[in-house]
Amino acid sequence: MNSDEILSIDQAHAWHPYTSTIDRDPVYPVCAAHGCELELMDGRVLIDGMASWWCAIHGYNHPLLNRAARDQLHDMAHVMFGGLTHAPAMRLVKSLVELTPEPLQHVFLCDSGSVSVEVAIKMALQFWLALGRAEKHRLMTIRSGYHGDTFNAMSVCDPVTGMHHLFSRVLPRQVFAPAPSSRFGEPCAAEDIDAFAALIERHHGELAAVILEPIVQGAGGMRFYSADYLRQVRALCDRFDVLLIADEIATGFGRTGRLFACEHAGIAPDIMTLGKALTGGYLTLAATLATRRVADTISSGEPGVFMHGPTFMGNPLACAIANASIDLLLAGDWQASIQRMERTMSDGLAPCRGLPGVADVRVLGGIGVVEMEQPVRMREIQRQFVERGVWVRPFGRLIYLMPPYVITDAQLERLCGAVCEVVGAGSGR
Ligand SMILES: *Cc1c(COP(=O)(O)O)cnc(C)c1O
Repeated sequence: MNSDEILSIDQAHAWHPYTSTIDRDPVYPVCAAHGCELELMDGRVLIDGMASWWCAIHGYNHPLLNRAARDQLHDMAHVMFGGLTHAPAMRLVKSLVELTPEPLQHVFLCDSGSVSVEVAIKMALQFWLALGRAEKHRLMTIRSGYHGDTFNAMSVCDPVTGMHHLFSRVLPRQVFAPAPSSRFGEPCAAEDIDAFAALIERHHGELAAVILEPIVQGAGGMRFYSADYLRQVRALCDRFDVLLIADEIATGFGRTGRLFACEHAGIAPDIMTLGKALTGGYLTLAATLATRRVADTISSGEPGVFMHGPTFMGNPLACAIANASIDLLLAGDWQASIQRMERTMSDGLAPCRGLPGVADVRVLGGIGVVEMEQPVRMREIQRQFVERGVWVRPFGRLIYLMPPYVITDAQLERLCGAVCEVVGAGSGR
């Protein structure tokens, strides 16, 4: 298929993420991706600043991940997980239990991040049902969060930037604490935790769980908050007998400088969700982990089983690639890569500070953010980035970089340079 054919079918029939079929956003046909570069069909090559929505941590077309996929295809692409088990899934389950905080001992494999959040919420609800506490069925979270696009996940996304106004009649009503204002690296301000404490104290009788993204709130606003706040949230959950769900779908596998963001606060959640970088960006796969207490309680109450089981659960191909991706991550000095990215982005994005229209510039680990005062004009700004040879896709007021960990300093400097130029030219406004 040539580029014109692709674009004409796309225009007539394809639905892209968050788009209209009438007022269409431009799309760029891509034919290949290698390392940290995307190759467009018109021959242009773009440096990738997005890691394909934060997944492709080792870059594209990695020989070891390719080999893991081919080797696994030789044995089996897929078999059902009901009544069967296999080495790729068990290797993955074992490493996830070993790598995540010690209390998490049971792994439920599922298809995507949003599904793993649904599974986590269902675990929390079944936990209290099993204890005969059906009244504990609501969730509490913090504003500016993002947990996915399925219905229960939507119900705990930020009520302003999320889809609450649209689906208010069908979304379960959850309890929202203000987003913490205390920044990462700072102690927690009393008013932050007081607001959270007052709400959990008032509602704990009906709360099944608190769900939040530890340390970094991703698609809900790219905010980095105080580890001390997270520590105090954990303590309040214990005090008021509410489970804590840590959504590490965006933060897991090193992105924030720790393997999992919970480690910044030295806490363990009762339930944890993983996704995005799990397969190094090759295939969709996610996991929900639970403590022995959560799993055993669910299993000892009515109906005695956990009521979930996706068709493609434990897909061997996805698990084999996830194993290779985790091996690759742990075999390299990923901490040094993240620190280098943090330094290069801190220097490279600093010139944006003080430019007209810029509200804030912040960097944590492999995440660099330029927050604008006003929402960016997507089509225009996207075109400007492509013209500069980089792939950066902002959303709302946020122009951000989350590149593959294997990006070179020279590539990262070009990405930062393009962001500064585009913001400086007023295109961010
Ligand atoms: C992306 C994301 C999700 C949703 O994952 P999908 O695979 O897109 O369903 C959930 N939570 C967080 C924190 C995410 O970043």
